[in-house]
Amino acid sequence: MKFVDEYRDSALIGRIATEIARRSRGRPLKFMEVCGGHTHTIYKHGIEDILPPNIDMVHGPGCPVCVLPMGRIDDAIAIARTDGVIFTTFGDMMRVPGSKGSLLDAKADGADVRFVYSPLDALKLANRYPDREVVFFAIGFETTAPSTAVTLLRAQAEGIKNFSVFCNHVTIIPAIKAILDSPDLRLDGFVGPGHVSMVIGMRPYTFIARNHARPVVIAGFEPLDIVQSVYMLVKQISEDRAEVENQYARVVRPEGNIKALQAMARTMELRPFFEWRGMGFITHSALKLSPEFAAWDAELRFEVPGIRVADPKACQCGEVLKGVIKPWECKVFGTACTPETPIGTCMVSSEGACAAYYNYGRFSKAAGRVNLPVVSPRTMAQREVG
Ligand code: SF4
Repeated sequence: MKFVDEYRDSALIGRIATEIARRSRGRPLKFMEVCGGHTHTIYKHGIEDILPPNIDMVHGPGCPVCVLPMGRIDDAIAIARTDGVIFTTFGDMMRVPGSKGSLLDAKADGADVRFVYSPLDALKLANRYPDREVVFFAIGFETTAPSTAVTLLRAQAEGIKNFSVFCNHVTIIPAIKAILDSPDLRLDGFVGPGHVSMVIGMRPYTFIARNHARPVVIAGFEPLDIVQSVYMLVKQISEDRAEVENQYARVVRPEGNIKALQAMARTMELRPFFEWRGMGFITHSALKLSPEFAAWDAELRFEVPGIRVADPKACQCGEVLKGVIKPWECKVFGTACTPETPIGTCMVSSEGACAAYYNYGRFSKAAGRVNLPVVSPRTMAQREVG
């Protein structure tokens, strides 16, 4: 297939959904889409309504903005408020609330916070302002970690000393392990993250099939990709198989991206443990800079509070990130917590499950269950652009 319309062929998607219903024979099946990008596709295109009612899609922890705990936002704000610092970040992170406000609030108070499209933009700023300290707020899974790694290698090669990275990269496999070990949730299979898998390949998921007897299908991000992946999961279950399959073969290679993995291995190493929002501390689930790159490590160059901060009482992001509740089941969803006034992170990023439900809720089954706020198509388009 060449054109995006072909991945949105409603007649073909309908036929596959019929086949899913035939093969699953009404058996209740719960699949987790790990990646926030998949959650976005599912609700933007109303896929939950196309699938037969016995198929329940629950959302996983794969939104990088959503999983950062409040304490790390506070640390970022402390660095941003340091004299002489230009603090750079992706746009989504500007509005994520810490315990005393967001980076946007810090900017309003006078901190020099700028949003960038890539870490290389931050490095360019370091070149342009040699008298200032430029810090890049690095977040994301293995999808974005390679671009941070390449930027660090370039900073080292060019001897740029007024640049550093506040590293908050996380790794997806320990989070999936934590979910599988949790007694809260019984899952029948996983729609695997397409972009992360482009970097790490297929092998890291084999423990899910081998040790937990659950199928995994790595999926692309168009509606047809998702529905075909669900079909592949159902087919495996109906044939009593649990394997790792790759629906996104046009992008994901079984071995991943070796060069990206090498760049990450040189510049970063695993942290012993890291706190995930609502999920607590997970061992070996995040990256920090390797000793060779200590000179570019913002955590070593600046004072950060490093204090653990409890989530607001009303916030149920942890349960949403583990797939235990649906966003609309959170008590403050759509009332106290909206994209304009987010209480939790899942309402900030467009990949967050709560934001996806909120923006596209009127097209979803959930709209029939609760009084979801109706959002006009124009507002949705503005939010997407924003
Ligand atoms: S509605 Fe808001 S507070 Fe509740 S889970 Fe979603 S983001 Fe968190």
